[in-house]
Amino acid sequence: MAVIEKNNYPFHRVCGEYISNEVKPFLESIDCFPHALQPASIDKLTVTAPSGFSLQARLNMGAFGISRYAFDDFLKTKAIEAGATVIEGEQINEVQKTKEGFMCKSLTQKFYSGKLVIGAQGKRSMIDKYLNRSFVQQRSPYIGVKYHIRTEHPHDLIALHNFQDGYCGISKVENNTYCLCYLTTRENLRKHGTIAKMEEAVLYKNPFLKKLFTTSEFLYTTPEVINEISFSPKSLSDHQVVFCGDSAGMIAPLCGNGMAMAIHSAKLLSESIIQHKDTFDENKILKMYQMKWNAHFKHRLRIGRTVQKLFGRNSTTEISLRLLSYFPFLLSWIISKTHGEIVVSYQGTFHSSHTRPGSSDH
Ligand SMILES: Cc1cc2nc3c(=O)[nH]c(=O)nc-3n(C[C@H](O)[C@H](O)[C@H](O)COP(=O)(O)OP(=O)(O)OC[C@H]3O[C@@H](n4cnc5c(N)ncnc54)[C@H](O)[C@@H]3O)c2cc1C
Repeated sequence: MAVIEKNNYPFHRVCGEYISNEVKPFLESIDCFPHALQPASIDKLTVTAPSGFSLQARLNMGAFGISRYAFDDFLKTKAIEAGATVIEGEQINEVQKTKEGFMCKSLTQKFYSGKLVIGAQGKRSMIDKYLNRSFVQQRSPYIGVKYHIRTEHPHDLIALHNFQDGYCGISKVENNTYCLCYLTTRENLRKHGTIAKMEEAVLYKNPFLKKLFTTSEFLYTTPEVINEISFSPKSLSDHQVVFCGDSAGMIAPLCGNGMAMAIHSAKLLSESIIQHKDTFDENKILKMYQMKWNAHFKHRLRIGRTVQKLFGRNSTTEISLRLLSYFPFLLSWIISKTHGEIVVSYQGTFHSSHTRPGSSDH
């Protein structure tokens, strides 16, 4: 099996770096939980409105906090230990069905063949354009910005601070560092010209954010920034390439479990592939995967899109938070509906915790 990544590990990326514990038992069962990196343990949530009104909740399932810089590199090492070849610095820009399977071509004109191609290219990539996927035609209004900071903040708390046209999460990762990450609109940035000016004019209106931005130590000089974040529904397959993670569908970052969903969808897909490992019949693999994917994620993504609409505007955020403060069970319901059940380890003869699901030759 080969993993082809356009960047070189380790690298920073825009992400809140809060991973729902729904995948912890599964990661432990395949020896991929990063205990040695000492992730933070998070089980409390605070949500604030731009006015400073705040709401607290306990997170029953909880989460762990770890930087993508450390976690992705750790997973790369695990993939190599499990027998995968990891090819870095190679961007795939074409994929074609052949008689034997598939052929991928990279920007550097190298060719890679295999019986099956899994598209795990994230929210949006040049390969989506090549495959002419429908969501690529629509521009998305969102941008994401991330910093690593040192600050005074409880180690077990994730705070979601809302501001006009966006929200900002803060929670602990490894090494006494905190991840400060926000989502806002391109229009917000356009209006204010630069990220720094936008932060001062808009984010600072929330008193919690003003304190965080003005009293913390920022560990990089410029933030990580991404654009074109789309929550539109996507297809699970195009041109017989099967997608998992964000390339199959992205949940609003506010729900805080895109990574858990990406890991879970990879597990569902690998189960479907292993089930059909004798024929590698993509139609059968896709049918089984689609059924499982819909059962686990379709409803969750829809709720995520609704939650995304409630927050990020001053008036609706304030009203939603005040309403939720009177009906705390509603907040627990939203949290439970946007998070899944605990993902169990591989089961059955081909799924023992020592079986490496990706270790077949493709
Ligand atoms: C602002 C923001 C905050 C978020 N906060 C959280 C959070 O706190 N918790 C959480 O669980 N989720 C969060 N998410 C969501 C989370 O980041 C994603 O759901 C998760 O990263 C999806 O994983 P993935 O493997 O599908 O995609 P990615 O992590 O994006 O990985 C895709 C990989 O494919 C590579 N790639 C792309 N195209 C090509 C190509 N053509 N050839 C080769 N390589 C390619 C990319 O370089 C990348 O490394 C957040 C998202 C945003 C935007």
